[in-house]
Amino acid sequence: MKKNLFLLLTFLLVQTLTFAQNRKTKKEKSKEVATVITDSAQWRKEHHIINRDSAYANPRIGIQKLIGGNLRFIEGKSIRPRQDAETIKKLDKGQQPFATIVACSDSRVPNEMIFDQGFGDLFIIRTAGQVSAAASYGSIEFAALKLKTKLIVVLGHTECGAVAAAVARPEDVPGHIVTLINEIKPAVAKSSHLPGDPVNNAVRQNVIDQVNELRDLEPILHKKYTNGEILIVGAVYDIHTGKVEFLQETLLNLPQPKTAK
Ligand SMILES: [Zn+2]
Repeated sequence: MKKNLFLLLTFLLVQTLTFAQNRKTKKEKSKEVATVITDSAQWRKEHHIINRDSAYANPRIGIQKLIGGNLRFIEGKSIRPRQDAETIKKLDKGQQPFATIVACSDSRVPNEMIFDQGFGDLFIIRTAGQVSAAASYGSIEFAALKLKTKLIVVLGHTECGAVAAAVARPEDVPGHIVTLINEIKPAVAKSSHLPGDPVNNAVRQNVIDQVNELRDLEPILHKKYTNGEILIVGAVYDIHTGKVEFLQETLLNLPQPKTAK
């Protein structure tokens, strides 16, 4: 009887020790994983992580953050940042988006997904062919003036239906759609001599024209742009590959920020 009791006690002791050991191992393992995710410079490099506050403070870093997010997206390494309840709660006090995106309404160009960003990151204005009028201008100005968002990206995309319509020049366009087509027609005319696909050539030219239009827009954007307070650049999203190309034509001779007085 005594022997049985001794065996039972020994068995229970071994079980307890093994359980404790397993727990410790699991805890250590989860700690290891957490270290890899949050602290590893290697992991941050591989996932093209750029600090969010730096991107908000400096539009040039903002461009790098968008490029990094798009690389994650096309490499199948999206981390879907700031898409949790904690972020929603944090943002109920206000927003500081690091970029304003002026994009097409096309359902194949979901902005937060292609740039792998989250809540509070992007201030987005979307119309077909990213054609802007008064309400869009007001929205862009609001972000620049009130939210202090310093980066504006005009984002076109390949195979854009609105641009294709402007290239095709249909007669008797119904409703307000004619407004969109008329706004894009100058870009079609400017790019008509180029070799290659006429729609995608016009898409690029349309983005360049829209960037210049916003840079010249009085009374708020023009001054902020020439002072170097904000950047306005253009990019094209390729609906075949998922890649965003920032257009070199819109990255040259950018005004430098004036040093703070
Ligand atoms: Zn489009």
